[in-house]
Amino acid sequence: MQKLEVLYQWQEARLQKKKLEKKIKNLPEKYELDQRNQQLETLEKELENERNGVAELSRELKRKEDQAAKVENQRKNYEKKLYQGETQSAKELEQLQMKVTQIQKEEARLEEDILETMMHLDEAREEEEKKAGKYKEKRKKNEQVKKEYTEEKEQLEKKVSQLEEEIVRLDGAVEEKLKERCISLAERTGLRGVVPVEGASCGGCKVSLSAFVLEQVKGGKEIVTCESCSRMLFLPGQ
Ligand SMILES: [Zn+2]
Repeated sequence: MQKLEVLYQWQEARLQKKKLEKKIKNLPEKYELDQRNQQLETLEKELENERNGVAELSRELKRKEDQAAKVENQRKNYEKKLYQGETQSAKELEQLQMKVTQIQKEEARLEEDILETMMHLDEAREEEEKKAGKYKEKRKKNEQVKKEYTEEKEQLEKKVSQLEEEIVRLDGAVEEKLKERCISLAERTGLRGVVPVEGASCGGCKVSLSAFVLEQVKGGKEIVTCESCSRMLFLPGQ
């Protein structure tokens, strides 16, 4: 194989490697995964808030129920005194009756309060359950996207390491001077320093090559360059 064709393979392997590395860095799945993880984090915080809310309401309900039990006990004690017949004075009886009535009012108020808290607690529990379901679903989807991303990335990385091996192999097959010239031409002309002849045109700038240049390439002259873009030319498979 001609030197320049090997140089071309070396150049293409390097370009392909760069392209793949860029692709790995910019995989859309990576962006999607980042976005999804952020959303999941927000949802997790919301879920925690819901859970705290439920816990707080449960404590509140317990406090109110304890208070109601305490008040009920007080009323029962007064009622006991009232109906035991130990107290004879009409004034004392009247006072006891008043206290019982007062406590009954307090009990009614507490009962209403407890019902309202129960309702809030039910609502909060329902909301928590909804959010927990949403969180679970989202987390599952995230894991799936992560798996897809990892698989795609690994596949590309495998290709990159194959290219690296090929580059190392070709590195030894081309002279340093030629590689340097190829790189500096590529820097000047963009992407490639060595290109194949395509028909009768330069594979780099697509300009038709002169009969003289074509003759030189076909004749096997070691280094022939395009008169238009200065890239090195070779005839594939010669
Ligand atoms: Zn050219």
